[in-house]
Amino acid sequence: MSKLICQSCAMPMVSEVQFGTQLDGSLSQDYCTYCYQEGNFTDELSNLDDMIKICTVHMVSEGMNQEDAINILNNTLPNLKRWKVK
Ligand SMILES: [Zn+2]
Repeated sequence: MSKLICQSCAMPMVSEVQFGTQLDGSLSQDYCTYCYQEGNFTDELSNLDDMIKICTVHMVSEGMNQEDAINILNNTLPNLKRWKVK
């Protein structure tokens, strides 16, 4: 399987339990289970800044330096499907 990352939060998705679900119960290839359930986003986030803040907290809690986390997220998230400027 090719390497997939969530197109909302950039989390690597390697096992099926990490995949979000579509309305019909099938797995989403685009979004992770934390972001996407039964065809809808689990959060009400409407902008990238809020997503970066939430992801930063998560990455810092896993031991990453805050500045590094913000840099990585700023470089990664804007390229994802959910946040790409239409
Ligand atoms: Zn996600």
